[in-house]
Amino acid sequence: MKQAVIIGAGIIGCATALQLARRGYRTTNVDKNAEVGSGSTANSCAIVRFSYSTPEGVMLAHEGCHYWLNWPQFLGAPDERGYAKFVQCGHLMLRIDESDRAQVIERYRELGIRFETWDNARIRERLPFMTTESFFPPKPVDDPQFFSDSASEIAGGIFTPDAGYIPDPLLATHNLRRAVEAAGAFSIVLESIPRELGARITSELRIPTIGIGAGPDCDGQVLVIHDLLGLSFGHKPKFTRRYADLGEIISRAAVEYCRDVQQGRFPSDEESYHLPVEHRDVPVAKRG
Ligand SMILES: Cc1cc2nc3c(=O)[nH]c(=O)nc-3n(C[C@H](O)[C@H](O)[C@H](O)COP(=O)(O)OP(=O)(O)OC[C@H]3O[C@@H](n4cnc5c(N)ncnc54)[C@H](O)[C@@H]3O)c2cc1C
Repeated sequence: MKQAVIIGAGIIGCATALQLARRGYRTTNVDKNAEVGSGSTANSCAIVRFSYSTPEGVMLAHEGCHYWLNWPQFLGAPDERGYAKFVQCGHLMLRIDESDRAQVIERYRELGIRFETWDNARIRERLPFMTTESFFPPKPVDDPQFFSDSASEIAGGIFTPDAGYIPDPLLATHNLRRAVEAAGAFSIVLESIPRELGARITSELRIPTIGIGAGPDCDGQVLVIHDLLGLSFGHKPKFTRRYADLGEIISRAAVEYCRDVQQGRFPSDEESYHLPVEHRDVPVAKRG
């Protein structure tokens, strides 16, 4: 069976693992954090919008929207924490002037993405908490004009009704993790985390954990061979243990070798190849 190691267990790493597992790979996600999705994913606003700058970005986001709409079916595996929800509230992108976002509108038309153009009156009616004054260009907070009222208005906005947001991106990543496990994930490597966390994750997971600096309670252990044999230099992480000092042995051997070469003691006559005696006097032909 083909194997894949994926660095990172955010939404992208877990989604990648799921797709690879569905294609027959045994996958392993490696993450320095203690929980899946606790990098950028957990800090994201998790808005599902289509207003990206490249056609590929727009298409990918729009396609993603359909997966979010059918999330449990897409995952095909249960999660004891429940499924992340997609709140399809729409997305409004404001425009500085009439020409602003013209490309985005063009792209929406090309790709058949539903959108509405809202004028300022419509924005105020639908979103009464919002002002339609324009504060462009942005000013730093110490600018004397920072708190001044605005003399101009924005040029309405573009509303895409199919967009929305995921209130809990961490849960969405956990959903993917369960789906990956169900699709045949092999193991997870836990690196440089407190022992207590390693123990907790190991007891919660259904697949084996392999620890490197994650305490003795993981199902298995791994140590970088260079650290184990004393071949690494510089900072020595707390969790490593040296079983040999090959670095010292290799350095000593290399120094001795250099010294012997420099002092003409290596190679010796015994360490040299010789021509047969009858050929020793044959002159060597020179080119040219
Ligand atoms: C404030 C903010 C708001 C955002 N808002 C939105 C939004 O509204 N809509 C939207 O679509 N996107 C938004 N994003 C972007 C979105 O969060 C990211 O595009 C997405 O989470 C990236 O997922 P990821 O799995 O690639 O990254 P991450 O979730 O960061 O996962 C990467 C993982 O890799 C691990 N890692 C990295 N290097 C190593 C290593 N050498 N060894 C081991 N582990 C490693 C990290 O620990 C981390 O867990 C926002 C981002 C931020 C920060």
